Amino acid sequence: MTLPEAGPLGVFGGTFDPIHYGHLRLAETAREALGLTRVRLIPAGQPPHRATPGAAGAHRLAMARLAAASNPAFEVDPAEVEAAQASYTILSLERLRAELGPRRPLVLLLGVDAFLGLPTWRRWTELFDFAHLAVANRPGYSLGGAAMPAALAEQVSRRQATPDTLGAAPAGRLVQFAMTPLAISATDIRARCAAGQSLRYLLPPPVVDYISRHQLYL
Ligand code: ATP
Repeated sequence: MTLPEAGPLGVFGGTFDPIHYGHLRLAETAREALGLTRVRLIPAGQPPHRATPGAAGAHRLAMARLAAASNPAFEVDPAEVEAAQASYTILSLERLRAELGPRRPLVLLLGVDAFLGLPTWRRWTELFDFAHLAVANRPGYSLGGAAMPAALAEQVSRRQATPDTLGAAPAGRLVQFAMTPLAISATDIRARCAAGQSLRYLLPPPVVDYISRHQLYL
């Protein structure tokens, strides 16, 4: 299968500590539902919002590469892990924009839990200047209601669009898409690992092997 290089590019950042089927299914569903030509996975370096990851950046990058290897539409971007300073999504989007030019539609992919936290991100309203946002459902979280900050609700009502419109502009719209709900989290995987429990069927076999070979999360 030859994939076109132009067309909307999915951008999917995360701690990926470790990458699991919740992440991979979100990326694959977005590719299909939103007409993305490729999805770029960007493991975070030292994330500004949260505790130090359980595995070093080099391990999280290696696991993302193993997980992405079997999907020709997925690619892994090492820049945040390799950068000396803290990761900020806005900086990655600025970099991608400079790399890909002003016209290519970029679609930042997020689970709804991450989306609800958006107002705490650096220069968060500027994200829409560089990319569209696409939000996937995740068990245990919902859009709207009391958990939705007012500033975010305002962006949702102003920018809400349908997936078929994403290719018509480089940035600025907001869509939701539905994925098969998967109540998998990296936190749960790390806890299972520490308890000596099986990780099978929660993440790809090469990643399970990598974790055990490098004795991560013990
Ligand atoms: P942790 O448990 O360590 O917080 P996580 O499993 O939530 O990790 P992250 O790397 O923090 O994974 O998440 C990266 C992105 O993937 C976020 O946008 C998050 O919302 C999304 N995501 C992670 N797991 C799922 C899932 N099971 N379903 C839908 N979205 C998910």
